[in-house]
Amino acid sequence: MSEPLLGDRELELVSDCLRRGWISSGGEYVEAFERAWARYCGREYGIAVSSGTAALQVALGCLNLQPGDEIILPDFTMFACAVAVVSWGAKPVLVDADPETWCLDVSRIEEKITPRTKAIMAVHIYGHPVDMDPLYDLAHRYNLIIIEDAAEAHGAEYKNRRCGGFGDISCFSFYANKIITTGEGGMVLTDRRDWADRARQLRNLYFGTRERFLHEDIGFNFRLTNLQAAIGLAQLETIEERLAKKRWLAIAYNERLKEVSGLQLPIEKPWAKNVYWMYGIVVNPETGYDARRLGQKLNEYNIETRPFFIGLHKQPALIKRGLVTKETYPVSDYLSSQGLYLPSGLTLTESQIDRVCEALRRILR
Ligand SMILES: *Cc1c(COP(=O)(O)O)cnc(C)c1O
Repeated sequence: MSEPLLGDRELELVSDCLRRGWISSGGEYVEAFERAWARYCGREYGIAVSSGTAALQVALGCLNLQPGDEIILPDFTMFACAVAVVSWGAKPVLVDADPETWCLDVSRIEEKITPRTKAIMAVHIYGHPVDMDPLYDLAHRYNLIIIEDAAEAHGAEYKNRRCGGFGDISCFSFYANKIITTGEGGMVLTDRRDWADRARQLRNLYFGTRERFLHEDIGFNFRLTNLQAAIGLAQLETIEERLAKKRWLAIAYNERLKEVSGLQLPIEKPWAKNVYWMYGIVVNPETGYDARRLGQKLNEYNIETRPFFIGLHKQPALIKRGLVTKETYPVSDYLSSQGLYLPSGLTLTESQIDRVCEALRRILR
């Protein structure tokens, strides 16, 4: 369900890299991919890195965080978001999910702001954008930075503007199951020249600009290769088709599942363009099912599904470091208990969708 769907164009550009010996990170394709993706998202600077996790680490590395600084982020998100925060010695402060969009509940953020709060991480979950206007209001009033994680929302829009174009600094993943992929890869976008420069240094071991082997700070090797960037460039040429296919998939599922009782389907707020990166459903516990049992049942019909994320407050890695408070996150808990995503790959056919929906109808009857 995560096939990257590679084509002749990818092969052509990768072959060009190989023929010309551009197999590492110095070369035209990395810069061309950075420019192309930054332009697509309406940003000034793009800094390609080796993964979405690396992008988040680099983005947080631009904020000059001090130990004990707090970053507000959704409880219901991918673990990489917390890793990036913790890796800089900052403290993750979690906010429960919105029951409809599954993104962080913007109305619950203000109660979490303290004098140590530095930034809010807005993660567009499964392709649906966060409600950005009230988030901006808050950020403005409390002088906070917005970090956008658009790893699951390539091409998604909030009020006709593309996701990745909002954060003071924004992050993407190009992992194999994302809408545009480089196999492994990621990117940081920003309009700030100073952050772009720092991000490039953080990506590349902070080699000296005057004296190469004098390093002014700690950096990493988070470089993307030309081979990967070439794949990304070829993929980007087909982004409109990819997005159209995801929407077609979601509409097809919606039509077939809207009458099935006990299912909550993904939504699209009036201000949003959802790209349905993954088509998620939430099963009502009154059906007698939770996500894991429903997944097992679907598996008996040879249908592969994945359960939703498990909230950050449940992660042993954070609990044992004393980074989780006693607070509860009921919406996030509900989503991880009852939510799963159906096959959402770009090669899915109408008859396969029919088969998935027929199985669900039978199971939930
Ligand atoms: C995939 C993903 C990441 C991490 O990206 P990798 O390339 O796998 O490191 C981060 N955040 C979100 C929301 C993701 O979906």
